[in-house]
Amino acid sequence: MTGPDPREQFLEVLQRVWGYPAFRGEQAEIISTVAGGGDALVLMPTGGGKSLCYQVPALVREGTGVVVSPLIALMQDQVDALAALGVRAAFLNSTQDAEERRAVERAVRAGELDLLYLAPERLAVPGTAELLDSAPIALFAIDEAHCVAQWGHDFRPDYLGLSMLHERWPEVPRIALTATATAATRAEIVERLGLQDARQFVASFDRPNIAYRIEPKDQPLHQLLRLIREEHPGDAGIVYCLSRSSVERTAEALAAAGVDALPYHAGLDQATRRRNQARFLREDGVVIVATIAFGMGIDKPDVRFVAHLDLPKSVEGYYQETGRAGRDGLPATAWMAYGLADVVQQRRLIEQSEGTAAHRRNLTAHLDAMLALCETVECRRSRLLRYFGQSSVGEQGCGNCDTCLSPPEAWDGTVAAQKLLSTIVRLDRERDQRYGAGQHIDVLLGRETERVQRLGHDALATFGIGAELSELEWRGVVRQLLAQGVLAVRDEHGTLRLGDEAPAVLRGERPVMLRKDVARSARSRSAGRARPPADLAPQDAGLFEALRAWRAGVAREQNVPAYVVFADATLRGIAATRPATPDELAQISGIGAKKLETYGDAVLELVAASVTHS
Ligand code: ADP
Ligand code: ZN
Repeated sequence: MTGPDPREQFLEVLQRVWGYPAFRGEQAEIISTVAGGGDALVLMPTGGGKSLCYQVPALVREGTGVVVSPLIALMQDQVDALAALGVRAAFLNSTQDAEERRAVERAVRAGELDLLYLAPERLAVPGTAELLDSAPIALFAIDEAHCVAQWGHDFRPDYLGLSMLHERWPEVPRIALTATATAATRAEIVERLGLQDARQFVASFDRPNIAYRIEPKDQPLHQLLRLIREEHPGDAGIVYCLSRSSVERTAEALAAAGVDALPYHAGLDQATRRRNQARFLREDGVVIVATIAFGMGIDKPDVRFVAHLDLPKSVEGYYQETGRAGRDGLPATAWMAYGLADVVQQRRLIEQSEGTAAHRRNLTAHLDAMLALCETVECRRSRLLRYFGQSSVGEQGCGNCDTCLSPPEAWDGTVAAQKLLSTIVRLDRERDQRYGAGQHIDVLLGRETERVQRLGHDALATFGIGAELSELEWRGVVRQLLAQGVLAVRDEHGTLRLGDEAPAVLRGERPVMLRKDVARSARSRSAGRARPPADLAPQDAGLFEALRAWRAGVAREQNVPAYVVFADATLRGIAATRPATPDELAQISGIGAKKLETYGDAVLELVAASVTHS
């Protein structure tokens, strides 16, 4: 072989353009494959670094790299981010007027673009294929490739047409990328895009920088505020709620408490939605409170926490939503508050849902997996990875989830379960009377409430036999028995009935192990703050804040998101090492040639000023 090792060329591009010292994971291997003309299918979690896998080959191969993406709203930011690196990029989508489109088309024909972003529907527009014929194409990147999966929730009919790429341009390498991990989706992508010969790269879906925590819901708003104030003051975050009304309520309450919080849901008019999303993406430290309508394409790297105030319907959904935290690799928190009412509500929604029994069974299976994750006494990360068919993190656990940091105790809840079930059996004998958890717990605790007396429930054999547990503990028992299928929800009022597993428990054939709910305060304190292992020293933190303020000004001036100027990680690197010369500055990860040229002087001045002041 002659000539330089191509891998050295890729590394040189990475260092010069992006200013990153090394490739991550399988990036180098993937880039090698595509740059060499081969097809690739890349499954990598959010934040794993998928973009570089097509951007680097597009720069080293002759011609324009064509990126198909459904995320039209993001294209401007993506192109701005590349421009800030000195990469020539543009997009074609429906948001442009004819004039703007023509300018881009001219640039394509003149071979002036390294990267061209296209909405999938543009490929079907007459003239687009001819336009692509007019200049050499370096590669096709199919981003969010799971959109081709017909049963998935992100399905885009236009993606089915992408099989034409290979037919029309058989010589051009294709790289399909997704963060959706399941094997079924992968098979569907291969099938529909004709990627049978593509090399497959399946990265670990572990997100070690995300701390997973799930705590019992007590006073959710209070708990959320505590999380924000104690662990994430001034940080950007996403709070997910199930309904529009709870989004509104939560956003208002946070704003009243001094948090820079904005609502986002499908019921808001489009202008408000767009404005709130833009503020979240562009400004530092905005908290967005949203339904799951807010999601795909939220490409903000510095989301420091994702909070769930309601139970997600599946582990897939939970992992996708929490995955929006910490894309930049810095510590982030995935926090959820979950309680009895959540289980009752979700079970009820399934009971009432339309569709076949098989469909309901499918929903139930997904919810059960989610509940099992909530109630586990094991490492949360191990469970998540196993769910996605990947090896777990080992016996000792991950050390960065709540169950690892303060292991919950398991306790034998068999007798408690039997007491509760007997109460339900007895109350069930009353015709036309059904009760929710509250009444059953009152009976178990022997409370002489007005209702108990009126109904004569103080005469039941189980009245007062549960005084060894508190009301909160009983609610925990009910919640976990619902999760385990020992209890079930009867109707739309959320009343309880025996579940399939109940007879075995009553007969003493099935022991019931439960998780002891840990008091909220103790848990959150011992789980620690979501900060990097080598935190900034106080004097460096001052410089970091000064750099952040400077970055906010630059971003506003140029009308780009803050991270397009510099990532948080880069600002941290500057604050911690205090470079004094352009050469020293260039050593920091995230400072490539173009950024050094554009911002080097300003940054060095800030560092010098802060040194003299400290
Ligand atoms: P994905 O598309 O897989 O969610 P991105 O491509 O947006 O992830 O990358 C996530 C973040 O990691 C970005 O800020 C990106 O610049 C950064 N990144 C990617 N690869 C590297 C690398 N080799 N070294 C340092 N940072 C990287
Ligand atoms: Zn763990």
